[in-house]
Amino acid sequence: MKRGFEALKARWTPPDLGALFVVSGPSGTGKTTLLQEAFRSIPGLEFSVSATTRAARAGERDGVDYHYVDHEAFRKMLATGALLEHAEVYGNFYGSPRAPVERAVAEGRSMVLDIDVQGARQVRVAYPEAVSVFILPPSLAAIEQRLRARGLDDDAIIARRIREADEQLAAAGEYDYLIMNDDLASAHTQFQSVFVAELLRRNRRESWVLASRR
Ligand code: ADP
Ligand code: 5GP
Repeated sequence: MKRGFEALKARWTPPDLGALFVVSGPSGTGKTTLLQEAFRSIPGLEFSVSATTRAARAGERDGVDYHYVDHEAFRKMLATGALLEHAEVYGNFYGSPRAPVERAVAEGRSMVLDIDVQGARQVRVAYPEAVSVFILPPSLAAIEQRLRARGLDDDAIIARRIREADEQLAAAGEYDYLIMNDDLASAHTQFQSVFVAELLRRNRRESWVLASRR
């Protein structure tokens, strides 16, 4: 018998109305790791692919992890209003393309934005109903260990990300939900529970009530 999120996935029905999720946390906290499992476990969640001026890391794919663009192209997107939000993070520019998010919201699909705290503030203004989730590391030392173990950034980049982690952590109080990513299995369950609970809100499940009374 399937249990937990495997059972949920087998019989999941999409909500009547989609939700917009914002996920933030310092670099190395585990956002990508947790999101990958959430996408595997909960059907119908879509990832907002950001544009960035940072170089692709080993294993990253253009159009899947990010749209990799140069400064000129990024400036053009900004000038034409093509970005819903944007920020300079750890010395690179990042922004969320507006059109896919607007289309998802209009069509009742659920979208997840993995963005920093400055971007999250801009999304809250544009979409006050967005649900925001902050991933906490057990300590700053743990972030450093994880970034080193990940082995994808050089020492200078890692040092910068750790220096700026505290600035991101100071904004945790602005978020609707906090996830503690100490033990990974526990964090997966915490994280997926937030998505599931939000997608079970009454206003997103009117059709269940109607069906149950037929
Ligand atoms: P982010 O997307 O927030 O920058 P990642 O998901 O890339 O972070 O995680 C950074 C590194 O830490 C990866 O190598 C990942 O496998 C590892 N990691 C994630 N969560 C945990 C955890 N709970 N315990 C130990 N290592 C973890
Ligand atoms: P990384 O370079 O490690 O993929 O991401 C660095 C930081 O940039 C992370 O905190 C991530 O959430 C943030 N980020 C990624 N895409 C966007 C975006 O489109 N907008 C904003 N504001 N931040 C982003």
